[in-house]
Amino acid sequence: MSKTDLILLALEASTTSKLMERALLAKYQTAVANDIKSLNRLLQETTPALLLVGETFDGRDGIRIAEEVLERFPTLPFLIYTDKAKPELIKNIFRLGISGYLAPPLKTDEIVDTVENSLKHAHRIGDWLRHEVKRTTSSLKKRAQISEAERLRLETVFNSINDGVMILDEENVIMLINPAICRTFGLNAKEAIGKPVLSILTHPDLVALFKQPHLQNGLRHHEISFPDGRVGSARLTSIPDVGLALTMQDITDLKEVDRIRSEFIHTVSHDLRSPLTSVIGYTELIERSGALTDNQREFLKRIQESVQHITSLINDLLELGSIEAGLDTRREHVQLDGILNYTLEMLQGQIKAKHIKVQTEITPALPALRANPVRLRQVLDNVVGNAIKYSYDKGDVSISMRSEDQQIIVQVTDNGPGIPTKDQAHIFDKFYRGSNISSHAGSGLGLAIVKSIVEAHQGRMWVESVVGKGSSFFIILPVLVEPTQVVKK
Ligand code: ADP
Repeated sequence: MSKTDLILLALEASTTSKLMERALLAKYQTAVANDIKSLNRLLQETTPALLLVGETFDGRDGIRIAEEVLERFPTLPFLIYTDKAKPELIKNIFRLGISGYLAPPLKTDEIVDTVENSLKHAHRIGDWLRHEVKRTTSSLKKRAQISEAERLRLETVFNSINDGVMILDEENVIMLINPAICRTFGLNAKEAIGKPVLSILTHPDLVALFKQPHLQNGLRHHEISFPDGRVGSARLTSIPDVGLALTMQDITDLKEVDRIRSEFIHTVSHDLRSPLTSVIGYTELIERSGALTDNQREFLKRIQESVQHITSLINDLLELGSIEAGLDTRREHVQLDGILNYTLEMLQGQIKAKHIKVQTEITPALPALRANPVRLRQVLDNVVGNAIKYSYDKGDVSISMRSEDQQIIVQVTDNGPGIPTKDQAHIFDKFYRGSNISSHAGSGLGLAIVKSIVEAHQGRMWVESVVGKGSSFFIILPVLVEPTQVVKK
């Protein structure tokens, strides 16, 4: 035990206190407090290794003094000197975690041993504490090193990916921006950070993306067409407690492949249509060339039906081809609610046959669209037609049209079979037919045509559906888009 350890004594003056001081002086330094004031001063000014307090000191209860001192110096080893080790006092000593007590008869060795054991115990606790602090500090340092390495790795990934990424706060102010998106829009990262995104990016497609209402899954999507012919697919994703992530993928090559594929389908369809026209022509000639048996007439009827089916399929493909190629440029003022009336009139037969209840909810004075009326009729025929076709007998179909933020929102809802989640992402693809409707005839081209028409009018569409409950198709079309703003897709 080092002789530099200082024992602070706070005892009523007595022969015993003198004895204790003398006994301790052989091994330790001592300091003596005569009253509470000097005790507090010595506790502040010296660094005692142990405090020995009388059961009463300066007219106060030693246990109370212990409570107060331990509150300020919780690790200070503490001994109580008492004339008589009463059970109540010993209970309090245990309660406070005081190192121990001294009581007469006292021998010099005993005093030194008790102090020494208390100090040893305190040193062990001190060593353990130091060890724990060192262990915790080094684990914190390691964690800080790992998170720094992690941060650097993420930064490298963020800066190296080919897709553009921009992180915005809840006010659409740019917080992070990667080099890919800077290159795409010709931005300087340092200048862009801290600015509202739409104050520096004014591309109409991007502005349209930010104006879109949120989808159910918090995702918004828009294609961005650049003057040099490049096309980007931009997505806005909500990030809880942060704001938004804007991601941009270059889909110029995909668009080109799609264009070549559409061109191919267009050419092949054309080539197929001519021989089919002659087949129909010859079947009509056979009918006129002489008397036919009932069987022959039946066979001819089946040939004609099949050829008509293929012809309407080819016509659909040709139409899709011309819409996708951007050949459909006819635009005039169109009242969508007026077109709906024609659609419902045409579908009356099916509505009646299946006893379907159709409800419409149209906002009065719906604004006009700048659109191709023939194409919009096709859109409504297909979507409303599907709702009726796939509904069960006595089903409910509701159609609503409302205007919001310079857009018309059309919703067609049925309580039919619903579309399985795995099919929902594909029903707008050409020739895709869902796994839910095996008994209905169809080509799987209807929604592909509808989607192309909607997109050619700078609109968007999507489906929300739950199997067993029904489906809702949403179509959003911008109101009176000025020709200069129309970006060719
Ligand atoms: P088709 O009706 O000729 O199959 P569409 O392109 O119009 O082709 O539709 C694609 C698929 O979407 C359908 O095969 C069907 O699985 C699903 N679908 C479309 N509308 C509905 C609807 N209202 N209810 C249930 N499924 C639907």
